[in-house]
Amino acid sequence: MSTFWDKQIDRADYLATNASGAKELLTFYAQLLRAQAEIYDSFRSRKDWLPSGDLESDLAVVQSSMIGLLECVVRHGPQSLALEAQVLLAAEPGVVAQELFDYWRNPTDTKFFAKSVLQPYLHWMAETSTTPVGRELAGGERTCRFCGAKPQVSFLQSKEPSAESGNRDLLCANCLCSWEFRRVVCANCGEERPAKLGYFHSPEFDYVRIEACDTCQHYIKGIDLTRLGHAVPLVDEIYAAPLDLWAREHGYKKIELNLVGV
Ligand SMILES: [Zn+2]
Ligand SMILES: [Zn+2]
Repeated sequence: MSTFWDKQIDRADYLATNASGAKELLTFYAQLLRAQAEIYDSFRSRKDWLPSGDLESDLAVVQSSMIGLLECVVRHGPQSLALEAQVLLAAEPGVVAQELFDYWRNPTDTKFFAKSVLQPYLHWMAETSTTPVGRELAGGERTCRFCGAKPQVSFLQSKEPSAESGNRDLLCANCLCSWEFRRVVCANCGEERPAKLGYFHSPEFDYVRIEACDTCQHYIKGIDLTRLGHAVPLVDEIYAAPLDLWAREHGYKKIELNLVGV
């Protein structure tokens, strides 16, 4: 198994066991990550196969990799998702294929199954430098350089040991790679005026902040790795779910919901 997935799984297991909040979400996410890691491994270990970049050509492989994830959601998911997974397990292959194509062309954070399966597919594509084709995405500095999707989470880290404050990166909601981004800019609309940008902390999650914009009313969570170096942005973002509640109550909409729907 790759270190990327191991790292996410270990952190989700740790927080699900030792943290006070978001236990149910993290327990489910830890299982989901295992199912995604299995999908990734199935691509990686497939003999004489590399992704083509075109989902249509790779459809049979991607679709056959999904069964374990659907079964995982039946066993561990919340009731509504578990029922949906059962329906998809029994559905004609064409129905599932359509879900995947729709997401490929026009990703939306409410399509749980397509997003869950295409994350490891796109991550493997990024690692093999296979350019995705047939995605109709806007592009620009606020979307992933590799696959064009929106950011899931923002994080700060020191790239040089002497730096006083960290660099900011955005982590892609689809291929899970990250790209460098300017520090004081809205990741949704590009607003740069500091008076329009707000940062909100709570003492419980002092290394996590809400990065909100009053121009477009959107927000993203930021994980500060200069304060907690062993945090794992994708997982700690879910752990800090109570901050999302706060942001919603204050009228902000998340740029991209995470896989547990928060
Ligand atoms: Zn991406
Ligand atoms: Zn904005």
